Amino acid sequence: MTGTGQPINLNLELTDLCNIKCRMCGQAENPKVHNLQANSFMKWDVWKASIDALESYTDEVSLCPHWLGEPCLHPEFDRFVRYAFDNNEGNRLFRHFKLHTNGSLLNDARIETLLDCANRDSMAEDTFRFVHFSVDAFTPGVYYAIKKFDYGERVYRNIVRLMERREARGLKRPYVTNAFIVMPENQHEAPWYLDYWATVFDRLGVKWEIFYDWPTHETDNVYFRRLHQADQPAADRLHRIVLDQLGVLGLDEAGTFVEDSF
Ligand code: SF4
Repeated sequence: MTGTGQPINLNLELTDLCNIKCRMCGQAENPKVHNLQANSFMKWDVWKASIDALESYTDEVSLCPHWLGEPCLHPEFDRFVRYAFDNNEGNRLFRHFKLHTNGSLLNDARIETLLDCANRDSMAEDTFRFVHFSVDAFTPGVYYAIKKFDYGERVYRNIVRLMERREARGLKRPYVTNAFIVMPENQHEAPWYLDYWATVFDRLGVKWEIFYDWPTHETDNVYFRRLHQADQPAADRLHRIVLDQLGVLGLDEAGTFVEDSF
């Protein structure tokens, strides 16, 4: 048995490739990351052995199949994720699971895989915590400006489809986290972004929340995060202005956050 007495966040990266080039991503200009012809995918034997080995961990494991690439690029994404959940009865291998994705490759089969895995009677109800979508834009034009690929409409379709299928199947998990990193290119779209997702969540009758940084707890949500860049004070200022406009956080005259207005 292996243990440190501390919970473990385990990132088993299915691939280090990515199919888009977010302007705020340190990976975006690395040609290796965008060489989609490269066979840069985790092998089945490595995944299986890694998942099986979790049985010997005494610490609580939180598993994520992503680090820097887009996990849904893996041609066997469904098989890999299903294997992990199929063998996790009673949470014997991992206690939590989360998925970070740009959402562009979430087809119908993947959606059903995620819903199946997130709703197993054989493990704790909160095992599959959330799917985090890096969206960061509302209109296709701004999406293209930020991500360099014209996938904006497809991403919106896929996220809505996941939520619709979840509701149609009467399920609650996985929660959906729709992220928006505030930057000069998209700041004017923040109210449209919030309105759009509010309308979708409300139409589906789900409880949701707004956060002004990483979500502090699990629920369906929209969140607005500041950009990390060399001129951090400028990014922080812009973030505050947008939050103030949205009414998510107010500012006093000195530009300091005042109490959460939600
Ligand atoms: S989707 Fe993720 S890995 Fe790909 S460029 Fe954007 S931030 Fe980077």
